Amino acid sequence: MLTEATTDKPALEPTGALSVETVLSVRHWNEHLFSFRISRPASFRFRSGEFVMIGLQGDNGKPLLRAYSVASPSWDEELEFLSIKVQDGPLTSRLQLIQPGDQIYLGRKPTGTLVTDALLPGKRLFMLSTGTGLAPFLSLSRDPDVYEFYEQVVIVHSVRRVSDLALREELEAKWSEDPLVSEQAPAQFHYVPTVTREPFEGNSARIDKLVESGTLFDGIPGPAAFDPETDRIMMCGSMEMIKQFAAYFEESGFTEGSNAAPGQFVIERAFVG
Ligand SMILES: Cc1cc2nc3c(=O)[nH]c(=O)nc-3n(C[C@H](O)[C@H](O)[C@H](O)COP(=O)(O)OP(=O)(O)OC[C@H]3O[C@@H](n4cnc5c(N)ncnc54)[C@H](O)[C@@H]3O)c2cc1C
Repeated sequence: MLTEATTDKPALEPTGALSVETVLSVRHWNEHLFSFRISRPASFRFRSGEFVMIGLQGDNGKPLLRAYSVASPSWDEELEFLSIKVQDGPLTSRLQLIQPGDQIYLGRKPTGTLVTDALLPGKRLFMLSTGTGLAPFLSLSRDPDVYEFYEQVVIVHSVRRVSDLALREELEAKWSEDPLVSEQAPAQFHYVPTVTREPFEGNSARIDKLVESGTLFDGIPGPAAFDPETDRIMMCGSMEMIKQFAAYFEESGFTEGSNAAPGQFVIERAFVG
């Protein structure tokens, strides 16, 4: 059930670049991570995998904005986000307190390179993520078009702790309850979580080690190594992971794609550290 917007918060005013939306629901995963859903204006169009500016009113009365990947697919009537909680972070120290009924700014111009348009056609789509870098891939893996473009759709999610595996249940269930992709995803989607700093019944090595050993490809039809002919890669997360893998893919004969010139891999540097 939705609660009324609290009256001690000043009403936000839309601007040319920002609309004002309503928080619909909030789900906390642990003390570092939460998801929330907001209303979607009819005029808001985006491609699954893109990011947009969102925010709250800053102490100076001006909007305090940060880039956020939309975690819901472009077909969804609402917008979902997955957020870090940085305890002294200007935005997320406050954003983590939002409640249903609260207002939030939403930018009017989504953009980004983690889109299928920036990739050449292929057979297997691998989406490599660390932490909240999962967000754009939650969008893409719930988009029915992605299952038309690729035979196999793989999310690799590396986190430190088991509780950082946001939406684990839904991902393990291969989106079987999702009205948009419940037919295609169970046959084509693969979820490869790995937890690096806590005991876990599944993988516990970093993504590079999973690639090296071939474990990453367990259960996925096709070769147990990346192939530039058939495989397409998207990466989102820590700077360290992105840098390491961008170099690795370039050495392996993959070219980086963009909206203007599609290639075999695309990246988005979401955060340092
Ligand atoms: C293209 C793009 C997409 C992004 N998408 C998301 C998203 O979907 N979800 C999300 O939570 N953040 C995302 N971010 C980061 C986001 O813009 C903010 O940095 C984050 O919300 C923290 O804001 P803040 O004002 O509280 O702290 P900031 O002052 O922005 O950051 C404080 C510190 O926290 C670290 N940090 C910031 N974000 C993260 C993170 N996500 N994970 C780990 N460490 C982090 C920073 O490196 C910095 O050292 C994205 C950034 C970019 C550039």
